[in-house]
Amino acid sequence: MAKKRILSGMRPTGKLHLGNYVGALENWTKLQDEYQSFHLIADYHVLTTDLSTDEIYNNTIEMVIDWLAAGLEPEKAPIFRQSQIKEHTELFLIFSMLITKARLERNPTLKEQVRDLNIENLTYGHLGYPVLQAVDILLYKGDVVPVGEDQLPHIEITREIARRFNNQYCSDEPIFPEPEGKITQFARLPGLDGNRMSKSLGNTIFLSDEPDVVNQKLRKAVTDPQKVRKNDPGRPEICLVFTYHKKFNPEELGEIETNCRSGALGCVECKTKCSAKMNQFLAPIIERRKKYEANLDLVKSIINDGEQKARAIAEVTMKEVHQKMKIG
Ligand code: SF4
Repeated sequence: MAKKRILSGMRPTGKLHLGNYVGALENWTKLQDEYQSFHLIADYHVLTTDLSTDEIYNNTIEMVIDWLAAGLEPEKAPIFRQSQIKEHTELFLIFSMLITKARLERNPTLKEQVRDLNIENLTYGHLGYPVLQAVDILLYKGDVVPVGEDQLPHIEITREIARRFNNQYCSDEPIFPEPEGKITQFARLPGLDGNRMSKSLGNTIFLSDEPDVVNQKLRKAVTDPQKVRKNDPGRPEICLVFTYHKKFNPEELGEIETNCRSGALGCVECKTKCSAKMNQFLAPIIERRKKYEANLDLVKSIINDGEQKARAIAEVTMKEVHQKMKIG
């Protein structure tokens, strides 16, 4: 039986951090065996939050190096830029006719973006974000999309657009699947200050951080504020460093919990243990990263190759769309 198709994408914002890894990338590396995976670089979507394009290319390369270093295998799962497959914009135009402005204005993530990013003048592109996302998925006839819970409303819009197109133009046989959202299981990894890990908050640990950088960053991480001296009893359940241990040091978790509570373990020692485990985890990623950094031609050819594969599929889908619509 043919494998189901899965579409995953990220906006190219440069080097990735552990929050990106735990929230998405780790899952993608697992899914690439089970599904026929496609990895999209959303270099048009990124314009909704930053109109400056000077860094998009470099940010794309940095992000793709992190994808590869983290274990994405491009021969199994093509990596490609949204902007280089012109069918994305073509289908976007057609899909824009199939959904009302009122429906897009009801999209809860739009309201959140307006609030979080303090957007005063909403653009047509912002409103149409989920329409372009529907194109990213349906152009490749994705069956499944890995998402956080907050992205489920976008999948619902994709399903509605697919249904609308099928009902309107495909009386004989529908051409678009109605994709399912696959929720990413692991909770978000917080940043060094306890907030959401984000570059804009300056609280990240990058996948490319060398051991001395990680050690230094961890030393400043927030812990239980009531544990001031080494012998004070601590509360691991509210401690950020303990959350990191859960992910990167599960073998010692029980011992750390007991010794933190009893006061036998101090935060300095606990952080040293944590950064050692984190560095152990990051070591192979950093090693692979260096290999790609030293061979940028290889990275570019991986992207070009992925774009050829993606384009071939996109062209077939657009041909079908034109036939169904009796256009061209
Ligand atoms: S000992 Fe470790 S788990 Fe306990 S409060 Fe300190 S850093 Fe957190």
